Amino acid sequence: MTTAVVLFTRDLRVHDNPTLRAAMDRADRVVPLFVLDRRILDSDYFRPNRAAFLADSLADLHDALSERGAKLLVRRGRLTDEVVRVARESSADAVVMSGDVSGYAQRREAALREALEAQGVELQVCRETNFVVPAGAITPDGGDHMRVFTPYFRRWEDRPVRDVLGAPRTLEAVSLKSAADDAIAGLRLGTTSPKLARGGEQEGRRRMREWVREGIDAYEDGHDDLAGDQTSRLSPYLHFGCLSPVELVQLARERGGPGAEAFVRQVAWRDFHAQVLAARPDAVRADYRPRGDRWQRDDDGLEAWRAGRTGFPIVDAGMRQLAEEGWMHNRARLIVAHFLTKTLYLDWRLGAAHFIDLLVDGDVANNTMNWQWVAGTGTDTRPNRMYNMTLQAQRHDPSGDYVRRYVPELRGVAGGAVHEPWKLPEDERATLDYPERIVDPDFARERFRRARGK
Ligand SMILES: Cc1cc2nc3c(=O)[nH]c(=O)nc-3n(C[C@H](O)[C@H](O)[C@H](O)COP(=O)(O)OP(=O)(O)OC[C@H]3O[C@@H](n4cnc5c(N)ncnc54)[C@H](O)[C@@H]3O)c2cc1C
Repeated sequence: MTTAVVLFTRDLRVHDNPTLRAAMDRADRVVPLFVLDRRILDSDYFRPNRAAFLADSLADLHDALSERGAKLLVRRGRLTDEVVRVARESSADAVVMSGDVSGYAQRREAALREALEAQGVELQVCRETNFVVPAGAITPDGGDHMRVFTPYFRRWEDRPVRDVLGAPRTLEAVSLKSAADDAIAGLRLGTTSPKLARGGEQEGRRRMREWVREGIDAYEDGHDDLAGDQTSRLSPYLHFGCLSPVELVQLARERGGPGAEAFVRQVAWRDFHAQVLAARPDAVRADYRPRGDRWQRDDDGLEAWRAGRTGFPIVDAGMRQLAEEGWMHNRARLIVAHFLTKTLYLDWRLGAAHFIDLLVDGDVANNTMNWQWVAGTGTDTRPNRMYNMTLQAQRHDPSGDYVRRYVPELRGVAGGAVHEPWKLPEDERATLDYPERIVDPDFARERFRRARGK
């Protein structure tokens, strides 16, 4: 009898999971394992919103595996030690896991390989589980990663994609002592955003089907409409691997049409950022393309931004959506990140850290590389572009309903006037419990231009 440990990380699903399938193909019995990794639990990445979503997802995975004859084993401690211990307890010949891209994930894989090999256990890594096109599969001549999205996407689109795998019907498992329920319950600590989405594969699949059936066709025209809220909201399910990006792209392609095409292009950004970070793991802290920035220090400005009290309604609405839902619309992310890095001229790392505190889809590659993109230190080919906050608001929230939804102080202001409360008559403005703008936009524009030598 051969045995393989399936080490789940952020691939928390039974459908279209090549890692699970590889373990089943190579061994007679499997041991599904999740380790509550002390290194992650002790880090800034372990925050209540994502912990709650993870708890939902693990509970759901535990149920899905149990229905198929296997239980999820949940251990807590140093990842390498726990995996080696479980391999020993189950007399496994191999451990199978999904490849990932951050510096930590790369070091984890190397350490695990060394520790397992010392015990005569093989580590098999499946790189196509978390991504449609894995990092390193598309490279330029003489380089290790693609630096610009459009040429990357052209090649991404042409690359053949593996077949979607069904969920296994039954699993032959080794039963080890597990207190999965208690370990999972222990993750539900801390205060979460009041309107946090529920995690798990079942919920993710329900949303994916509904999105492809009813939402995707309107995506091309509607994805930037803040009040319309017409994006998929699938990002946390993709981040935790409750959904397979390959299956999602296949379903979208089957649906076809301009909405589906625009959507698939957006999903490709995920792979693009992943391959950048895989090649440049230092970009999580260091500027990918340094621009000589000497960022301002402004604790009050930073605090006003975090609290959604900058006096710029579109910025404040985005920041309050983040606090309320643990999620923010992409257009709002672009606007608030732009405001922090270019209008206030504060370091993108401060903004990225706040996003990681709250975002349920908070992801090292996507968060870091998007922040760098907006700050102009990343892969944007126009690094000094400068948004006008009011024009952004008028273009992407013409009715003002997005602002009214998240900024209750401004609910009484009708129509587009909600975007420029500073233009309201003095007596009307005095009745609003809403702050003055914390910075003059003309001054901010000039400051940024000078800082970038323009
Ligand atoms: C400053 C900033 C920080 C961000 N941080 C994160 C993050 O931590 N995690 C995260 O998943 N996304 C991040 N994004 C990207 C994007 O905003 C979200 O993926 C998107 O808003 C999620 O909503 P959705 O699922 O409805 O997206 P949809 O518009 O429905 O897109 C479908 C999927 O494509 C992927 N995608 C879309 N846009 C991007 C993008 N620009 N970069 C990478 N992948 C993308 C996501 O997986 C998304 O779920 C960030 C963007 C900015 C500007």
